[in-house]
Amino acid sequence: MLSPLTELRGWVTSNASLREAICRLGASLFQRGLTFGSSGNLSVRIEDGWLMTPTNVSLGELDPARLSRLDLEGRLVEGDAPTKEGFLHRVMYAGRPDAGAVVHLHSTHSVAVSCLADVDPEDVLPPITAYYIMRVGRLPLVPYFPPGDTRLAEAVRPLVGKHHAVLLANHGPVVAGTSLSAAAGAMEELEETARLFLLLQGHRTRPLTPSQVDELRAKFR
Ligand SMILES: [Zn+2]
Repeated sequence: MLSPLTELRGWVTSNASLREAICRLGASLFQRGLTFGSSGNLSVRIEDGWLMTPTNVSLGELDPARLSRLDLEGRLVEGDAPTKEGFLHRVMYAGRPDAGAVVHLHSTHSVAVSCLADVDPEDVLPPITAYYIMRVGRLPLVPYFPPGDTRLAEAVRPLVGKHHAVLLANHGPVVAGTSLSAAAGAMEELEETARLFLLLQGHRTRPLTPSQVDELRAKFR
């Protein structure tokens, strides 16, 4: 058991503002109904490893001092035990050297889309808005594996070089970004697009044309 003073010193020297940002984002996602129960997890790359949300804790009740700090080998250095889905985060970082943060949620509309039959597994959502193309791009579907099954990491690994967002079948999205706010922004765009896509089911829809999509991709790559 560390003394309060030692804890405080450790907290101050180990990325205090990033810890605060993770907890603020977790609370915001929880309050807006983007995550519930103890589902969902967040991580940020730091100089000597990662800060990650702990296992079995609501994103609405994160404590900056208890976040899991992992070293570059993924070993717990301080804080509570990390999320059991930490391997998903690490496979994103391994494939994307520019990734500064990863957000994984079981957000309702994205999960609903991940359960639909007859979607294109190479690009699940159609290009219905420009912001979806700019912030998410193409969204591949990763085959289903049970929670915690590390075969999921092997299924994600070949996709992450080309994609900063993937959708796990019957599970939810994983999104990497250069910063926590970039990853969260892309995740929120994905969730809203999934909601729009579901709202449009049964309606004749006019998605962006391939040339409109190409123009956006050339401009906002
Ligand atoms: Zn999950």
